[in-house]
Amino acid sequence: MNIIDIINKKRLNENLTKSELELAFNGYLNQKIRDYQMSSLLMAININGLNDEEVINLTEIFINSGEKLDFSNFGITADKHSTGGVGDKVTLIMGPILAACGVKFPKMSGKGLGYTGGTIDKLESIPGYNVNLTKEEIYKQIEEIGISLSSQTEDLVPLDKVIYDLRNSSGTVMSIPLIAISIMSKKIACGSKIILIDIKCGSGALLKNQVEANELSRIMQVIAKHFNLTIITEITEMDYPLGNNIGNALEVVEALDILNGKKGELTDLCISLSTIIVQVIKKLSYEDARSEVKEVLDNKKAYQKFLEVVKYQGGKIDELKISSQIIEIKSNKTGILKNIDALNISKLAFSLGSGRLNKDDVIDYSVGIELIKARNDQVKIDDVLCKLYVNKPVTINADDIFIIE
Ligand code: URA
Repeated sequence: MNIIDIINKKRLNENLTKSELELAFNGYLNQKIRDYQMSSLLMAININGLNDEEVINLTEIFINSGEKLDFSNFGITADKHSTGGVGDKVTLIMGPILAACGVKFPKMSGKGLGYTGGTIDKLESIPGYNVNLTKEEIYKQIEEIGISLSSQTEDLVPLDKVIYDLRNSSGTVMSIPLIAISIMSKKIACGSKIILIDIKCGSGALLKNQVEANELSRIMQVIAKHFNLTIITEITEMDYPLGNNIGNALEVVEALDILNGKKGELTDLCISLSTIIVQVIKKLSYEDARSEVKEVLDNKKAYQKFLEVVKYQGGKIDELKISSQIIEIKSNKTGILKNIDALNISKLAFSLGSGRLNKDDVIDYSVGIELIKARNDQVKIDDVLCKLYVNKPVTINADDIFIIE
């Protein structure tokens, strides 16, 4: 069997054995298989899928391509992952909440590739914040303060890094089994045994509809069962941006505000997701877990935890920089704000400089959007809908973003 036979087998919708998957994927990592051959195989997988056995085998190949972290000396640690959405700063809020509740939270995140930044970009907007921790530094930090928020280490699932780049440039990102393998292999290699997966579904998310979101959840559960993990998959809406701020430093500001008492839909989401983890880890009733979560928000222990982790990792929160050039976008209609289109507002944030389409693109952390009006608000002509924090000229068609009827 050679790579051409393997590509043809998948083209004909036949199942690949573990050794065929190894030959193709490990061969690609070792540069024996060419980009065009792997792109072709990925496209055949996109079109014909992978069955559950292939998914499990390929997840194992991904995990074994690099180093694994082991938190068994620390009791039970928790992890979370979001498939990504506009204004998604949930990790920055949930991490400190969990750590303040006594749940150890060693979190590794990725940089964003797309219209808005990822968790690492948001953290890097804090001057001095060191996202690059070694395995040993993470262990030490978890021992000392119970939380670390860092980048994936260089050697964590290296196969995912090369395959993800190729998927991005070959139109093969949207394969549900490949998304499940990519996310789960990294989560398993990160070492936590209890993982919450927030599957975002809607116009501003990778997964546009419930059918895709359900299938991703099902495959992730299959992988978790095989690898003996507890995962909780929650499917949450992403037709509308999360919270009021979009843009890296602005999202840090909003996370701080929420930890400092600001209420709203995003606060409620973070309380609900945190409660699920506290309930499972501490074996509490849902009500008791929720009270613990609310208590650490009310008594500001979660807020203090955020400041503690930022300081521990070298960040100077007082030096966070937001652009001082502000443009107000005003309504040209009177009516009810029915929706704020998540995809179009993320494109606007991108045009300001807050995201990257290529790995090496440089992000402007200080730009972004502050939403002033929220869904279902009454709006009058000339009311400010949002403020743009800019460093360059921008053109905007507000009617594509703010749906007022
Ligand atoms: N996030 C990942 O880490 N991998 C994917 O394939 C998609 C989203």
